[in-house]
Amino acid sequence: MESQDVIIVGAGVIGLNTAYELAKNKFKVSLVDQFLPYRKASWAGAGIIPPGNPNLAANPINWLRAKSSAIFPALSAELLQCTNINNGYSKCGGLELTPFYEESNELGWAKEHIVFERINSLDLKTLNPHLNPRDYKTTYFPEMAQIRNPRHLKALAESCKLLGVRFYNDCKITGIMKKGGRVLGLESETGIFTADQFIITAGPWSADFLKHEGIETQIFPVRGQMLLLQSPLPLKEIILKDKHYIVPRGEGLVLVGSTEEEVGFNGGTTAEGKEHLFKIACDLIPEFSNAKIIEQWSGLRPGSSKSTPLIGKSPASDNLYFATGHFRQGLQTSPATALILKSILMHEELGIDNQYFMKSSEQTEPNKPLFQS
Ligand SMILES: Cc1cc2nc3c(=O)[nH]c(=O)nc-3n(C[C@H](O)[C@H](O)[C@H](O)COP(=O)(O)OP(=O)(O)OC[C@H]3O[C@@H](n4cnc5c(N)ncnc54)[C@H](O)[C@@H]3O)c2cc1C
Repeated sequence: MESQDVIIVGAGVIGLNTAYELAKNKFKVSLVDQFLPYRKASWAGAGIIPPGNPNLAANPINWLRAKSSAIFPALSAELLQCTNINNGYSKCGGLELTPFYEESNELGWAKEHIVFERINSLDLKTLNPHLNPRDYKTTYFPEMAQIRNPRHLKALAESCKLLGVRFYNDCKITGIMKKGGRVLGLESETGIFTADQFIITAGPWSADFLKHEGIETQIFPVRGQMLLLQSPLPLKEIILKDKHYIVPRGEGLVLVGSTEEEVGFNGGTTAEGKEHLFKIACDLIPEFSNAKIIEQWSGLRPGSSKSTPLIGKSPASDNLYFATGHFRQGLQTSPATALILKSILMHEELGIDNQYFMKSSEQTEPNKPLFQS
């Protein structure tokens, strides 16, 4: 195999977006994945993109979401122009429901100048007459957006190919070959990959690579099940309640998500999961009791013992980098994650400490994200 500038392990949304960003900046990139492409967490997700203002983000965690939110419109247009694939990016708006006794993130949203509006029950009847408001405070975010994950992944992959990125599918990386503090190559079932730099974006399968580098953070799979309903209701906004959501996809299709289950690498679905999600959907929108369940699927999120992703250079190698552990936020933070990696490889300033996400879990700043999903 011809030596490359950069080898990326894992063609989920994080690996693909990183490959795209680097290839645009003239790096020769190869992307290796153990499976056939794009059926992992990145494919399974809901594609919710919360709003944000990167210049006012309170900490790097919030910067990651806010910066990505600012990049998505231009990125989507760019991918459309390159590939003719529309990733479905749309500012559909979102309604967040919080129990009355719980504090919402109003102060944080206001500090970041995120546009939001507290909605009383009368206005809610106009905005979404189908929603059962019950005992919740309702906040409206007109700038909340969504994308269609499978289309976004396809558009990224096609753009990468046009930029000369080489894809090796069905190829599992099994080991790291090192000399001193430098990685010489990656071992696979079909041969050795050599390059100047190596990036691990292996999602929930990242644990062995981290262990190899002596990094203590645990990355583990957290299964999320999802339902696709067919319903004639004219819904527009995303509805968020705790860790659950309803995402209208248009054309009478509605996503309902999601469970959080620690069941190892078991990527199946269950009858309980289906029942649970259907009940959540009907509690929020009683008319869904007539909706048809069209499909059920699941994905394995990369959970992190640190509660933040790991992004940056390995402390044990000069030319090995990680971007993993994005848990529930991998899609919405993928463009800024790619930007951090590019800034490190190109020795550029980014306005945030680009090694922040590799530091220990005892971060000094508050890490709470402003949006759950
Ligand atoms: C049901 C559900 C709903 C979600 N909704 C949202 C949402 O609305 N918004 C949001 O931002 N996020 C959401 N997420 C989370 C998001 O999908 C993940 O955080 C994100 O997809 C993680 O991307 P990734 O590229 O790190 O991992 P993955 O998509 O898992 O990709 C990792 C890739 O690495 C490959 N790989 C692993 N090990 C090796 C190896 N040894 N050799 C070669 N290849 C390897 C795997 O085959 C895989 O393709 C959701 C997730 C789920 C499951």
